[in-house]
Amino acid sequence: MKVGILGNGQLGQMLEASIPDLKDIDVSLYDLRAHSEEALAEFIASVDILSYETENIPAHIVTLLEPHADKLYPGLNALKVFQNRLLEKNALRNAGIATAEFRAVNSLEDVHTAVRELGLPIVMKTTTEGYDGKGQYVLRSPEDAEPAWNTIGNRELIAEAFVPFERETSVIASRDRAGNIVVFPMTENVHHEGILRYSLYPAPALSEEKAEQAERYIRQLADSLDYVGTITLELFETADGLVGNEVAPRVHNSGHWSIEGTEASQFRNHMLAITGKNLGATEPKFASVAMLNVIGEETPAEKAEDIDNAFRHSYGKEARPARKLGHVTVVGDDDAHRDATINELTDLMPAGIWPPKH
Ligand code: AMP
Repeated sequence: MKVGILGNGQLGQMLEASIPDLKDIDVSLYDLRAHSEEALAEFIASVDILSYETENIPAHIVTLLEPHADKLYPGLNALKVFQNRLLEKNALRNAGIATAEFRAVNSLEDVHTAVRELGLPIVMKTTTEGYDGKGQYVLRSPEDAEPAWNTIGNRELIAEAFVPFERETSVIASRDRAGNIVVFPMTENVHHEGILRYSLYPAPALSEEKAEQAERYIRQLADSLDYVGTITLELFETADGLVGNEVAPRVHNSGHWSIEGTEASQFRNHMLAITGKNLGATEPKFASVAMLNVIGEETPAEKAEDIDNAFRHSYGKEARPARKLGHVTVVGDDDAHRDATINELTDLMPAGIWPPKH
């Protein structure tokens, strides 16, 4: 069976690497940047199953995929919905998931209306192509309306009420073609300057109630879309419960720990789901796991090579400031054991973000 993946970045590479034992599956990655209509048509025709490592696929390529929807997993609908923050928020609501109040914004007038109706602060975002905090503007006073519109406007935006969250978490699940779902344990995700720096399993001091709410949410979301593959739901944790922020119709950085950390990883389960195979177990293999991103430079990750319970992954990318070059997974018999190792690797992280504040 030939599986083609649109995108040949680290996610595509880790998907490909997740099933070395499955000799009946032959994976190829397609570099979307080197795209020509002819080459893409040839690629699509050459595979039995098509998937993608990113939802940021330009509209003209999505159009080319339409006639091949029957071999695309996750489906065209999921791709279109999660490319657009307004459709995404509506999908969350339709699946019974709490979200921030939001409004569509297509003009400066709409910004003023949103300020009146939602109150301040407001987080304004472009509806498409925003990631890692790009294309966002936080309005703290009514005077911010015009600069916000001038900076990121002149295109469709979404205005969201600011969610006073205690921390950010995510939950990841894989759903197979028959509708079976396996859910990965939640992580706490710590960001710095809009980029994920590390994820922790277990999420410290997570209540049973919230863990159950997250599991319920991701099941409802995946079922509501008849989703096939791995899906990620980013959640704000607030005093009143979990609030859905963003969905990735794919494997996610906050799930990279599952390569070492769970029976079957988020990557493997994606490949199993889209090829019509049975999903693997998502039980953690260790009491405590962390994923630390390697951002901007590789050198601080080298130390991990000499540490038994640390696993270095390098994506083979050229170093550039703020670029994700790899990650290090740290496993432990308990949080203290894991954290002692992380303490040796703090060069990987900006000062002040480790240990977590909660
Ligand atoms: P996003 O691209 O939607 O994940 O947003 C990037 C980051 O901005 C999130 O990880 C949050 O830290 C922050 N953020 C986004 N939306 C909101 C919101 N409605 N309220 C508070 N913070 C937000």
